[in-house]
Amino acid sequence: MITVNGRAYAAPRSPLVVLCIDGCEPDYLTRAMEAGAMPYLASVVARGTWAIADSVIPSFTNPNNMSIVTGVPPSVHGICGNYFYDPHAGVEVMMNDPAYLRAETILARFAREGATVAVVTAKDKLRRLLGHDLKGTCFSAETADADVLELVGMPRPSVYSAALSEFVVAAGVTLLATARPDITYLSTTDYVQHKHAPGTAAANQFYRMLDGYLGRLEAGGATVALTADHGMNAKTDAGGRPNVVYLQDLLDGWLGDGRARVILPITDPYVVHHGALGSFATVYLPDGPPAGEVIARLAALPGMELVIDRDAGCRRFELPVDRMGDVIVIAARDTVLGTSEARHDLSGLDAPLRSHGGLAEQRVPLVLNRPARPAPGARLRNFDVFDVALNRLA
Ligand SMILES: [Zn+2]
Repeated sequence: MITVNGRAYAAPRSPLVVLCIDGCEPDYLTRAMEAGAMPYLASVVARGTWAIADSVIPSFTNPNNMSIVTGVPPSVHGICGNYFYDPHAGVEVMMNDPAYLRAETILARFAREGATVAVVTAKDKLRRLLGHDLKGTCFSAETADADVLELVGMPRPSVYSAALSEFVVAAGVTLLATARPDITYLSTTDYVQHKHAPGTAAANQFYRMLDGYLGRLEAGGATVALTADHGMNAKTDAGGRPNVVYLQDLLDGWLGDGRARVILPITDPYVVHHGALGSFATVYLPDGPPAGEVIARLAALPGMELVIDRDAGCRRFELPVDRMGDVIVIAARDTVLGTSEARHDLSGLDAPLRSHGGLAEQRVPLVLNRPARPAPGARLRNFDVFDVALNRLA
């Protein structure tokens, strides 16, 4: 057994492939299976493991990918968004630098113990975090070089495309057939899920593609474990317009300009498909009024799911207290949070807004092509996937 961040893991008995399917609301899988688009997955449901797990809150990509590969919540590994405010330096920064990571990954540790490990991501933003300290194969589809393109046998896809995710899973199949890593971690992108609801033709087409690769991974002799970083919901009104609460505008009006600082941890360089709008925000009140007054006022707004102070929020969601603002704001299922209206460019949205970040996007699938014993009495989390795949196969 190898212990990483306080949890023990057995060495894999057959090659293990863990897939994080970005934005994979469980309905995408059930609707695709109902439509006959995922015959392989339907066979897995009958003979393997099908469960629903909770993602980390905020239900964003980086915190969840890092929880999955470390086996612990953000309070331990430190990555609580794509983006955060460093109050000591007084700057807002991307959180994709391994300098912000406070825990070792299961991947790096197994590699150090002699296992062969491969990591393939869609976007390059995650590659450095997932590959931190990793002695092994690690590349992104976004920046694949000539050698990788030849290995996978596909042209480099656009960063805004379904093909970016296909490249990741195709690379996983090729690596399994050639280098045959003991552990492979594949992380896709949610381009399709941000645009298309479960059961739509485009969504089913994506999942039909995925199903073919999943079957090839099993045919290659792998234990296949699939989970997701977060779900996805429509964030629009009856007319298809985005339901946005612009928090910075509201707070500037209530408190005076700039007395509160609203941070949206969904912010990243790739905003075309969601306009940097998600259902989680945190608010810094450096010299503002007591947090309680702001909380009461925000909580009374329509479209709010939960508004709480930093300590209560960090306890409940296992977040690092030094990387959260004084107030944590979570919007309801159909609502997203913005800063100032003028700072969000929604011109790139060519489909009604779908996004994530809140409690409504916390349910994710956890599926294995082998039967597993559940941990007694424990709440299943997406970051239990390595524990289930390595320790709990029946
Ligand atoms: Zn994601």
